[in-house]
Amino acid sequence: MDGPSGTGKSTVSRRLAAACGAAYLDTGAMYRAVTLAVLRSGLEGTDQAAEKVAVEAVNDLESVTDPSAPAIRLSGEDVESEIRGPAVTAAVSAVSAIPAVRAALVERQRALIAQALAERGGIVVEGRDIGSVVVPDAPLKVYLTASEEVRAARREAQDRKAGRIAEHAAVLADVRRRDQLDSTRKTSPLHAAPDALVLDTDHLSVDDVLRELLRLVEERGLVT
Ligand code: C5P
Repeated sequence: MDGPSGTGKSTVSRRLAAACGAAYLDTGAMYRAVTLAVLRSGLEGTDQAAEKVAVEAVNDLESVTDPSAPAIRLSGEDVESEIRGPAVTAAVSAVSAIPAVRAALVERQRALIAQALAERGGIVVEGRDIGSVVVPDAPLKVYLTASEEVRAARREAQDRKAGRIAEHAAVLADVRRRDQLDSTRKTSPLHAAPDALVLDTDHLSVDDVLRELLRLVEERGLVT
């Protein structure tokens, strides 16, 4: 599952995994957690020294892929709430554009995917480059999209629900800024894989998207 932020990717990916008895991996949380390590070391995402800190932090990451209780830990500490905050959100695109950081995380993601396939028989993975880079031979690739306005409104609602301050103009500006950085970076820019099914979710609810995904999963014989 690939696509920009605010498309409902996380919610539908997690629910799809639970419905299929599969594991669930949020790769954005991994980029966010190594970004948190960079910020905690007193650096900014754009600093030269950020690469070393972020690559080293990959070894301290732990991703729990159970869709009923997904978690991300950094050196054993649950950082789920902190990685969704404004500081990490502002810096994550810069850190995730560093090729060495991507290489280290893609390697880790592939290992987690192999483990989930062995243990649970399947996994739903969400991110920006899953169908194009991480698992080019995935049996189902979906690219979720929606207009900027709709995505900003969804982000805003999500932030409010989590108790974070959200102002429409600022959220929209952040959505635009991250889209621009994520889709123009040199290494693995955000784009739909040529064989991905593109779903525009502007007029679709989470339940609508989930229904369509379950139909696709069944049609391809991915669940028994
Ligand atoms: O999905 P989420 O919004 O949490 O992702 C945060 C950031 O992590 C994205 O804006 C992008 O810069 C980066 N990312 C990435 N590749 C992925 C997942 C996330 O570059 N597979």
